[in-house]
Amino acid sequence: MTDIDEVFTAGGPLARALPDYSPRRAQRRMATCVADAIAACRSLLVEAGTGTGKTFAYLVPALLSGRRVIISTGTRTLQDQLYSKDLPLVAAAIGRPARVALLKGRANYLCRQRLFAVTAQRALAGFEGGSLAHIERWAAVTKTGDLAEVPELTDAGSVRGAITSTRENCLGQRCAEWARCHVVAARRAANDADLVIVNHHLLLADLALKEDGFGDLLGTADAVILDEAHQLPDLVTQFFGVEASSRQVEHLLADARTELARVGGDATASTALASVDAALGQVRETLPLRAGSHSVARMAWDEVPVSLETALDVLADALEALHSALAAQGGEAALAHCATRAARLGEVLARVSHAREDEAARTIERDGRGFTLSMLPFDVAPRFRSIIDARPCAWIFTSATLSVGEDFGHFATRLGVADAETLQIDSPFDFERQGLLYLPPAMPDPSAPEYLAAVLGEALPLIEAARGGAFVLFTSHRALARAAEMIAARAEGPLPYPLLVQGTAPREQLLREFRAQGNAVLLGTASFWEGVDVKGEALRLVVIEKLPFASPEDPLVKARIAHLNAVGGNPFRDYQLPEAALALKQGVGRLIRSEEDFGVVAICDPRLVSRGYGRVLRASLPALTVTRERDEASRFLTRRAA
Ligand code: SF4
Repeated sequence: MTDIDEVFTAGGPLARALPDYSPRRAQRRMATCVADAIAACRSLLVEAGTGTGKTFAYLVPALLSGRRVIISTGTRTLQDQLYSKDLPLVAAAIGRPARVALLKGRANYLCRQRLFAVTAQRALAGFEGGSLAHIERWAAVTKTGDLAEVPELTDAGSVRGAITSTRENCLGQRCAEWARCHVVAARRAANDADLVIVNHHLLLADLALKEDGFGDLLGTADAVILDEAHQLPDLVTQFFGVEASSRQVEHLLADARTELARVGGDATASTALASVDAALGQVRETLPLRAGSHSVARMAWDEVPVSLETALDVLADALEALHSALAAQGGEAALAHCATRAARLGEVLARVSHAREDEAARTIERDGRGFTLSMLPFDVAPRFRSIIDARPCAWIFTSATLSVGEDFGHFATRLGVADAETLQIDSPFDFERQGLLYLPPAMPDPSAPEYLAAVLGEALPLIEAARGGAFVLFTSHRALARAAEMIAARAEGPLPYPLLVQGTAPREQLLREFRAQGNAVLLGTASFWEGVDVKGEALRLVVIEKLPFASPEDPLVKARIAHLNAVGGNPFRDYQLPEAALALKQGVGRLIRSEEDFGVVAICDPRLVSRGYGRVLRASLPALTVTRERDEASRFLTRRAA
């Protein structure tokens, strides 16, 4: 019988299957703890530093357990990698074939009902890279309905939206295509599998019962393993929140008009549609514009004028009236569904509009054409906890960043899992030897007007010493744009290295170019602080502009701070500082991704040293050798670059 220790030994199955495999005690320790947690149905939080090999450390015990396990990832990339690469490899190595299913969100599967509706109308013109006939031919033969089989169909394309379903427009069991529905078939396959690979969005949609009508994915799971778990507190907050947008109302109106035209609706329904249209227009007119801006602007609820609240109430009432009018049209499935959507939207609007101050952060975001209302609860722990309690199985949360220092309290409290066991596994990398942490000695205060120029004054000589191969990470889009302008306008001329600026191309494309160029300089904000894995010499310098404290001007942050003050908490200690520590750890973690990597992290913000809380932040960072001398950092880079 194969056991954990045997799998991870020097002559064991993994070593025999993988020529590069080297046994790591930390990996074996994590695997043993995961196996124990699965066997005992316990909750476990594992922080596994980069290079631990945590994927194998949970896949092996999951396969050996012989139980039904759900594995959830933060990104589709990791989901695909587990399904097509890691799992088959581990299963073959340890001789434990399993029935594995990859389950994606409904937006990835063809909706047969909607395709038929589109085909009937012949309303779509100009398909990207293909034609309606092409999609129809594929639809006639596909077994899975997975749109990844039609690579011409881009993510952003309007066609994709027209032939996939949303929770709002799916007809569920009333659908004539239910028996042949690809979403239903994918979920059935998942229910029959031993190991199901999902992503957090899909899992949470299930948990938050936002995928009603498709059964409970977790119903019979013995263990749930959540990788990239540091993303969960924010994702859970989003899922337990509510959102309604002008676009949803517009889509509802368009669908209802089409259906009414098809079945021949009465005058009451037409009047109700016109009322919603008028009420929507009134909300748009009442939306205040931020000074001098026609772009996206998010407002906290306490900035919302009374006239807007009134207009939203009128819209909610009009949607309720539309619901009644559509429901009275004879019960035809598609029309009845529009009625339900109208009722739901009306309810959400009313809920956001009349929520209690201490319950949730409410915002309204204007994006030129329309608006989005959202409500995010302050405390999701009790609700998430009740979900866990209702599903007595092993819950394993793992990531490279779950703790602040050695304390898992912040993460555990936000999710209500404070009683879970914890395990912290340090990275096996030799950070002291592989990297330098450079803290510039004479930086101005981050609020000073000359601060950004001082950051570039530190960054550019280091980029020169490293001969490119650098990430410069900013905490705001404004600072990033200004820095890009300043670099372009340098008296010395343009940078002698390829300059990649976030926003000029999709993230994945920028990363591909960065890896391929080998000497590029990438300027990025939040989306490059985490989830980016550039191994090898392409990345040898990371410059961090400022400590990643969430802006207190952000309406959501502002509301959370006000709430913590109101309930007698300490917003800085309990919220802003731990969040910044986790984000900083992520940002610094971009540099050393393998035993061969080397480089310098420069954190330009002087508060890391000058303020008392800097200690908490420094305690969360890997044990890089620290220097305050730029020459030493430059020499390190020059030596390694040479
Ligand atoms: S059940 Fe929903 S997703 Fe499936 S075909 Fe019908 S409308 Fe589309």
